[in-house]
Amino acid sequence: MSQATIVEFVRDIYQTSDFIPLHTPTFSGSEQQLVLETIQSTFVSSVGKFVDKFEQKIEAYTGTAQAVATVNGTAALHAALYMAGVKYGDFVITQALTFVATCNALYHMGAEPIFVDVSPVSIGLCPKAVDAYLTEHAQVSETGCIHKGTQRPIRAVVPMHTFGHPVEMDELISVCKKWNIVLVEDAAESLGSFYKGKHTGTLGNFGAVSFNGNKIITTGGGGIVLCKTAELGAHTKHVTTTAKVPHPYEFYHDEAGFNYRMPNLNAALGCAQMEVLELYLTQKRILAEHYQDYFARSDLQFVVEPKYAQSNYWLNAVICPSAKMRDELLKQTNDAGVMTRPIWQLMHRLPMFKDAPRGDLSQSEYIEAHLVNLPSSPIEITV
Ligand SMILES: *Cc1c(COP(=O)(O)O)cnc(C)c1O
Repeated sequence: MSQATIVEFVRDIYQTSDFIPLHTPTFSGSEQQLVLETIQSTFVSSVGKFVDKFEQKIEAYTGTAQAVATVNGTAALHAALYMAGVKYGDFVITQALTFVATCNALYHMGAEPIFVDVSPVSIGLCPKAVDAYLTEHAQVSETGCIHKGTQRPIRAVVPMHTFGHPVEMDELISVCKKWNIVLVEDAAESLGSFYKGKHTGTLGNFGAVSFNGNKIITTGGGGIVLCKTAELGAHTKHVTTTAKVPHPYEFYHDEAGFNYRMPNLNAALGCAQMEVLELYLTQKRILAEHYQDYFARSDLQFVVEPKYAQSNYWLNAVICPSAKMRDELLKQTNDAGVMTRPIWQLMHRLPMFKDAPRGDLSQSEYIEAHLVNLPSSPIEITV
């Protein structure tokens, strides 16, 4: 199969000879109406009805006890890690194969990542690799898990549901219980993805979702923290909104808070986008099925959802048989105006994380060298 035929195939799907981006936002609900209504009301900022509405919609959809909307996904992750008790000097286990925001959030709390390999099943954090790393390097105490080499706490495990494909959560939850570590899910990419019927981001102690412009739905910029209990939700809301103690006029704040509240204008956009989430999920699933059929006849392996899960297929991906073929595919498609991308460079290759402790990363390295993301915008497919 030649790469020219991949270009033709994608062009046929999107029915255009113009540039085809990787993922664009689609506005087919009442976005214009709700945003205009918000501007006309003058409540564009920190007060207004849409933030509560948006949080309620996310709660109803994901089944989380409480959702707390934030300015972006990185802020949601930062707040989730703070709420999970991550402190200065702690270690946090995560995957090297992730977007940099996962690590930035913990870095700015003074925590340090420990990089562990991903699973070939999910291309997200591998529970076996986490357990193997801990068995070699950690010990459990009443207060939590301690890194033997440094005597510093290993406070949290942060799996990331890569491209919307849920990680093996039952196994990961068992590992976290065994080692007395809190679980915070980076569900930035996985709104609409379910693990054994449960929404991603609701299985750990906290979850963080992103509504950046490239995600399945967008609020312009935005994120949300999914909290396990209403009590944790109330505290999360408190710290993300400057930790002000309610009073008619006095300013008293009982904790060092964040100003991470999602503006009402963005929440209005989010409410409209939630109306069309199901449609986009259906369209993206059909698109993924078309890719899957197409690549079944090739030596490129299309990345499918794990058997136990329902993925949102946020970004479609193929694994090439060689790194050389990956490079050729990237060049030919991008030269032809069909946008494709390699996966992120592994986190331990970045200057700020190069000295972080890490386990074996052979699976991550293989995926890094062989994976290509394909155009994935939701679209009405006619082929
Ligand atoms: C998009 C993304 C984030 C951050 O979301 P922002 O809203 O852009 O801050 C975090 N982690 C992962 C894996 C992401 O893909």
